[in-house]
Amino acid sequence: SVILYNDTFLTREQGKVDMEDRGYQFGDGIYEALRVYNGKMFLLDLHMKRLARSARELRLTLPYDTDHLAENLDKLIKENKMENGYVYFQITRGAIERKHRFPEKPISCVLTGSVEETTQDEDLHAEGIKASLVDDIRWLRCDIKTLNLLGNVLANQDAFEKGADEAILHRDGVVTEGSTCNVFIVKDGTLITHPANHFILNGITRIFVLELANRLGIPVEERTYTTEELLNADEAFITSTGVRVTPVVQIDDHLVRDGKPGQITTRLLDAFNQDVDQFIAE
Ligand code: PMP
Repeated sequence: SVILYNDTFLTREQGKVDMEDRGYQFGDGIYEALRVYNGKMFLLDLHMKRLARSARELRLTLPYDTDHLAENLDKLIKENKMENGYVYFQITRGAIERKHRFPEKPISCVLTGSVEETTQDEDLHAEGIKASLVDDIRWLRCDIKTLNLLGNVLANQDAFEKGADEAILHRDGVVTEGSTCNVFIVKDGTLITHPANHFILNGITRIFVLELANRLGIPVEERTYTTEELLNADEAFITSTGVRVTPVVQIDDHLVRDGKPGQITTRLLDAFNQDVDQFIAE
């Protein structure tokens, strides 16, 4: 396959990273993952806006502007002749002798990008998934999409070893998000999700689903809620670039209501899928 390396295109085998890259040594970098349908990137502008914000928060200067980056990603998709799948890219602060503080003289950051082909809907689970509650032990800037994902990795592995598909994280009983997704509940017809602050990543899919809810006239509350509220919810679902809107029907040994996808969840997923179909047809 073809990969993006800074401003050039290489084969996967040619793509080599320096052992003193700060991304490798400190996780000092940022990333984005986008969905590609019919060769086109979905919700591109929102992803680029979030990338620019992540860069600002880490005081990282992008190697070139996001318009040029979007053009390169487009070329990457075409070079790989990919119709459906993902584009992943990351930008690290660059390679230099290992010291925690930023390099005194500016160095070039390192951008790498690749694609992964999937069928259009292989990551969707309309029948719902099983989740497990896991302690959120991450740092306090979960709003930045950084390469430092150890807290997420450990939680995800924990859930997997407990036979669950995803970890739902909580801080002292307050549900924050999933290890790879945002979490929503429905109670008495109202959609509830954690506010977009430093405790969660403001998912692009989260933003999109809130917009869909608005369009469908579903009341929304962006507020914190407890694990108890989660367990007593009428419906629960997760959102991410990969899974769109996926019902959560079981949490550890507890069924979410009757263990079937809820009505509002299904309405949102249907509306989401319609928008994707329209995007594909455009
Ligand atoms: N939270 C975390 C921790 C994530 O890793 C992701 C996936 N990138 C999300 C939420 C969902 O974000 P998005 O909708 O932009 O994929």
